[in-house]
Amino acid sequence: MFDNLSNKLDRAIKTLKGQGSISEINVAATIKEIRRALVDADVNYKVAKEVTDKIKDAAMGRDVLTAVSPGQLMVKIVYDELTELMGGEKKDIVIKGDPAVILLSGLQGSGKTTFAGKLASYVKKQGRNTLLVACDVYRPAAIDQLKVLGEQIGVEVYSEVGNKNPVEISRNAIDYARKNGKKVVIIDTAGRLAVDEQMMREIEAVKSAINPSETLFVVDSMTGQDAVNTAKTFNDRLNFDGVVLTKLDGDSRGGAALSIRAVVEKPIKFISTGEKMDALDLFYPDRMAQRILG
Ligand code: GDP
Repeated sequence: MFDNLSNKLDRAIKTLKGQGSISEINVAATIKEIRRALVDADVNYKVAKEVTDKIKDAAMGRDVLTAVSPGQLMVKIVYDELTELMGGEKKDIVIKGDPAVILLSGLQGSGKTTFAGKLASYVKKQGRNTLLVACDVYRPAAIDQLKVLGEQIGVEVYSEVGNKNPVEISRNAIDYARKNGKKVVIIDTAGRLAVDEQMMREIEAVKSAINPSETLFVVDSMTGQDAVNTAKTFNDRLNFDGVVLTKLDGDSRGGAALSIRAVVEKPIKFISTGEKMDALDLFYPDRMAQRILG
């Protein structure tokens, strides 16, 4: 798959060479091909344009047109640029405080509760005594779902049936964690099907009450353009620390990773690749660059 774009670019550049005139305009044709490939991979058009402008500058400085395999060199430049734009290195979460508190945000259906379980399992495997907190005060089913996951992975779940105040629940949960030797508290909050003011106010209030060492925004990678808009709205209100991209086991090419990173300028920290509790990976920008290039 990685070769596809390379071959395409090779052909495009060879055709251009055949025409005799090698100029900036010819590079522009190749750049257009790259932009199309990015948009095909679900990268937001505006971001694809910004990215390809950068690639163009990088290519102009590298004598692409005189290279033996211009397509391959071009792909290498694109790959390096995408990797860099997505943060270069992987970034782990910050676990700090006693207990360390991790707050999860995101829309309903994004995979937030599933990720809460996965993260708890990941943190537990590092030898940390962990507490999951069910803070969705609207959907009792969400509390039950978290309890089932907690049982599966052997992590206690804190909830307060009947209490409709997420700030109180999360404060009480942190007290409970302190008294019971829990070192990491993971709070699953209520999501809704679309962004709404009440949800935002609520999660803002939770965040300022508990001062988490890490606030993560969970988003479905299959939602394309919407993923970027939702990320922006949540970031404007919450100033989160990192992003979790879910459902990457589907056929999405992962362009959302690049778009979100470019628009909110926050690192993607985890990817979720299935419904099972071990289907979690750290985010590696170079692997995602490869996936986007297809
Ligand atoms: P929440 O409403 O944000 O808490 O979302 P859930 O955790 O309940 O997930 C919504 C649906 O997506 C459930 O059916 C999950 O099993 C499923 N799901 C969550 N994460 C993934 C993933 O990474 N891959 C796939 N294929 N399904 C997922």
